[in-house]
Amino acid sequence: MPRLIFLGAPGAGKGTQASLVAGLYDIPHISTGDILRSAVTDQSPLGLQAQLYMDKGDLVPDQLVVALIQERLNNPDAQKGWILDGFPRNVAQAEFLDSLLNQVEQPCDYVVSLEVPDDVLVQRMLERGRADDTEKVIRNRLKVYREQTSPLIDFYLERKKVAVINGNQLTEGVTADIKSLI
Ligand code: AMP
Repeated sequence: MPRLIFLGAPGAGKGTQASLVAGLYDIPHISTGDILRSAVTDQSPLGLQAQLYMDKGDLVPDQLVVALIQERLNNPDAQKGWILDGFPRNVAQAEFLDSLLNQVEQPCDYVVSLEVPDDVLVQRMLERGRADDTEKVIRNRLKVYREQTSPLIDFYLERKKVAVINGNQLTEGVTADIKSLI
């Protein structure tokens, strides 16, 4: 079963595609954003800390996110394959993930980079209307993506794992492209 990392700007369709593809292969869709949002809803200690950053569109501190992903990947349901959506988000997280996956001898197969033009991203986010989808926060999330997350494409290109997928097409077309890659 595949082990995939989905990379892409906010609004690129990572969540939608990760959920569809995970369903096709019966593997867990692991979204750090979803896990953090549910911690915020529960007002757990993690949620209370994370909310301060999420409300502004900033990254939640690495030590919090790294701990939750390590725990999640240790879960029995994640031993056969998985899709990571929203993690890693910066080079430090990617290095952590690399060493974690080496330790358990579960290297990732592909980094799927979903590419969508900026104007389409903003439009999509405004339409989905999530709590952190106000224009100011959206602009900051795109800035954070450009500065901290997009360098990961080079990080993974050096490891020859990147598959670029055109995310600016109908949902079914994107899914079909990802399936043919796998
Ligand atoms: P997402 O649902 O992936 O767009 O994530 C929503 C928000 O959760 C982001 O804007 C960040 O504040 C936070 N978040 C999600 N994943 C991470 C991560 N890997 N590292 C730091 N913050 C994250």
